[in-house]
Amino acid sequence: TDFLTVTNLRARIDDNGTPKEILRGLDLEIPPGEVHAIMGPNGSGKSTLSYVLSGREEYEVTEGSVRFKGQDLLALEPDERAALGVFLAFQAPVELPGVNNANFLRTAVNAVRRARGEAELDAVGFLKAVRAETKRLHMSDEMLKRQVNVGFSGGEKKRNEVLQMRMLAPSLAILDETDSGLDIDALRIVADGVNSLRGPDFSALVITHHQRLLDYIHPDRVHVMAQGRIIHSGGPEVAHELEAKGYARYLQAAA
Ligand code: ADP
Ligand code: MG
Ligand code: MG
Repeated sequence: TDFLTVTNLRARIDDNGTPKEILRGLDLEIPPGEVHAIMGPNGSGKSTLSYVLSGREEYEVTEGSVRFKGQDLLALEPDERAALGVFLAFQAPVELPGVNNANFLRTAVNAVRRARGEAELDAVGFLKAVRAETKRLHMSDEMLKRQVNVGFSGGEKKRNEVLQMRMLAPSLAILDETDSGLDIDALRIVADGVNSLRGPDFSALVITHHQRLLDYIHPDRVHVMAQGRIIHSGGPEVAHELEAKGYARYLQAAA
């Protein structure tokens, strides 16, 4: 099952001239068709992991490897990773004033299609595809005419994120959900989006502090991350244990 295999990953960032190591020997394996969750205290490096996987350039990988579908993921540019099927949903969705949401989405979809050697969608084909999705997500088509994420409510941003994810049809979706500002409706939108894509050709890495989100998603595996490593892995019960007892016991066991 050579889908995603992260081995002994170490990565650092330049912190005002001083290298700061954030990922410190992280191992993680996600087989095809599985949804995995990562939970961990603030500052443990969860967002950094998602950035390194998606190819943000400010992180320097100093050791380890990431294999994805038989390739060295770290050697690929972000757009090549997207073409291979990696999708990153951002913790704080970027607002793009002046950029039309539909045009933005069509550009992203067509970039991926081009890189995969598929025909691009013309305006009509795109509209047809996107309208099927907005209907499914109970989004008004007016959302497509607005500027990307500008003035969107929390729920609208989540719907838009799920719309992007469904339109790009990734084989690995990485969702980094912030610890605050996710109400129950937003949790359900994200969970429904992930669940709707569940299948043998879809895997997800869901980063969250929310036990409740995992109640809706039912992850196959839950990993506990601390200080730049995965320190414990198990089934969905791990999320419940964390909710009940906190991180301390895992941190002690890993020390
Ligand atoms: P998490 O998502 O688990 O809260 P992050 O990956 O955001 O953790 O951050 C891990 C650690 O790296 C934190 O101590 C954070 O302060 C530090 N960090 C992240 N980005 C930077 C940066 N650009 N400059 C300096 N330190 C950073
Ligand atoms: Mg954080
Ligand atoms: Mg984070």
